[in-house]
Amino acid sequence: MEWVYIKDLKNYIGQDIELRGWVRRKRSSGKITFVEMRDGTGFVQVVIEKSIVGDENFEKADKLRLESSLIVRGKVRSDERAPNGVEILANEVVPVQIPTEDFPIQKPDHSIEYLMEHRHLWLRAKRQFHILRIRDAVIKAIRKFYWERDFVQVDTPIFTGAIGETAGNLFEVDYFDYGKVYLTQTGQLYLEAACMALGKVFNLGPTFRAEKSKTRRHLIEFWMNEAEVAYYEHEDNVKLQEDLVYYIVQYVLNNVYDDLVAIGRDVSKLEKVQKPFPRMTYTEAVKFLQKQGFDIKWGDDFGGDEETVLAKQFDSPLFVTHYPRQAKAFYMQPDPNNPEVVLCDDLLAPEGYGEIIGASQRIHDYDLMVERLKENNLPVEKYDWYLDLRKFGSVPHSGFGLGVERTIAWIASLEHIREAIPFARTLYRVHP
Ligand code: ATP
Ligand code: MG
Ligand code: MG
Ligand code: MG
Repeated sequence: MEWVYIKDLKNYIGQDIELRGWVRRKRSSGKITFVEMRDGTGFVQVVIEKSIVGDENFEKADKLRLESSLIVRGKVRSDERAPNGVEILANEVVPVQIPTEDFPIQKPDHSIEYLMEHRHLWLRAKRQFHILRIRDAVIKAIRKFYWERDFVQVDTPIFTGAIGETAGNLFEVDYFDYGKVYLTQTGQLYLEAACMALGKVFNLGPTFRAEKSKTRRHLIEFWMNEAEVAYYEHEDNVKLQEDLVYYIVQYVLNNVYDDLVAIGRDVSKLEKVQKPFPRMTYTEAVKFLQKQGFDIKWGDDFGGDEETVLAKQFDSPLFVTHYPRQAKAFYMQPDPNNPEVVLCDDLLAPEGYGEIIGASQRIHDYDLMVERLKENNLPVEKYDWYLDLRKFGSVPHSGFGLGVERTIAWIASLEHIREAIPFARTLYRVHP
């Protein structure tokens, strides 16, 4: 008998098939048992009638508990009331393993701490199933976007000697005789090297930041997609980000619409995302925020609250451009019209999810780069290879980093970023 996944059942109406999965729910009367089964691709109701399966099979079904693993053989029949239009009329019930304890996650009101402690089991919940499918779709969209545009994927290292962002939130690791190295905060510096070799490059991988603040949008370990393009200037860079984020939204709407609806996402908000995205300079943004009563002065970076208020004015993500140089990382190219600001942008998600992308044109002049490293008290000798890029055929180039979980949190409208990653690492949690 053919093993069929739940998502494909509608192509097998009237046929006998085999299902392999787990018991999600069970209810029973004397002569009939209903089991809701899941198999990783969906959910389906299995009807086990004593008069059809016989006493022995029916007793087996009776012993099933929540999250028992189970193989069922039976007939697929259409059922208009069922969510996917089908149910299974069982002929044979083969339990694979029956738990001897109650499944730990059964109530609708477990605390978040309890759920995180049982994350390895919580993953089986329906909501988590949908969120993980949305995550998968976002990642597929990212890769597809670049590959369709002839970018080359270049994987950047996790161990690194050079600080890419701020020194304050680095994880140090002992590295044999070499001494202290860090877990990567960004692959950008390496991508800059790679774009001088391959033109258009991107990466997708984990990033580590010892973020000491507890917010709804910061993880300790998160995934970042970075892109870097030789000969791209600020405006090309902004356009690329706009195309990428729009592409992700369209891909998600076309491929995991049902998953979004299933977790209660107001999909109409995503459907309102339109190109071109709104734009504002940092200086305009500060004026706007001051009018709203924020105690902020020119030169400060924005926090989550400021970003939320700025972006909530719009349906599409908002580009804030031309930040003061002291608020941003050392490698950003000054604006030729005003060297106090840099050619950069942050892309802020609507609906209050903060910064999903940080981007800039990079300094390509050797002397200016050395000056900036010194200004930032960074060890120039550790950047020897990075400076080489400014010695051998240096060209203007630009790039950005997109926070994968931030993007997912916005797209799926999650209350907290910890649900956007299978096993979140947060300030107080590395278990499971
Ligand atoms: P934020 O201002 O929100 O702290 P950042 O400016 O420090 O972010 P970047 O260095 O610009 O972050 O990194 C690029 C992207 O990575 C950010 O736009 C954001 O989407 C994401 N990101 C940064 N830090 C985290 C984190 N701790 N957890 C999850 N995503 C993050
Ligand atoms: Mg930060
Ligand atoms: Mg920021
Ligand atoms: Mg940033």
